[in-house]
Amino acid sequence: MPEIAKPVPAVTPQMAPFFEAARHGELKAPRCAACGALRFSVRENCTQCFFRQHDSARVGGRDEALSFNMAHQVYHPAYAGEIPYVVVMIKLKERPAIVSNRLGVKPDRMRCGMPVEVVFEKVNDQVSSSKFRPRAAG
Ligand SMILES: [Zn+2]
Repeated sequence: MPEIAKPVPAVTPQMAPFFEAARHGELKAPRCAACGALRFSVRENCTQCFFRQHDSARVGGRDEALSFNMAHQVYHPAYAGEIPYVVVMIKLKERPAIVSNRLGVKPDRMRCGMPVEVVFEKVNDQVSSSKFRPRAAG
């Protein structure tokens, strides 16, 4: 049976700084040039003040699992061998939340509030995927 490739995110102009930073092992979020709000939304406008211009800021480091869900059903055939797997929303200390498709923890050990840290997995020369693994509390 031929192997089915996992979907790879598109490197759009809005997401290019995110993927550039990820290739160098940094997690960056768009930061509004007017109010400084951070977000992971791909919207062009700030979600707080609707300003369009932004730069980016490094985030992450002492984060925690805010919520999660466990996939027991095959939603994409490329992930069939990984069932069950965890989809987790991460609360960054800087405030914006990011969704990650895996946490490197057995599903029955997953807990809300679990301290986590970002790690990167190289997908190809343009894309490195951010994932979060458990870290010691403190
Ligand atoms: Zn703003």
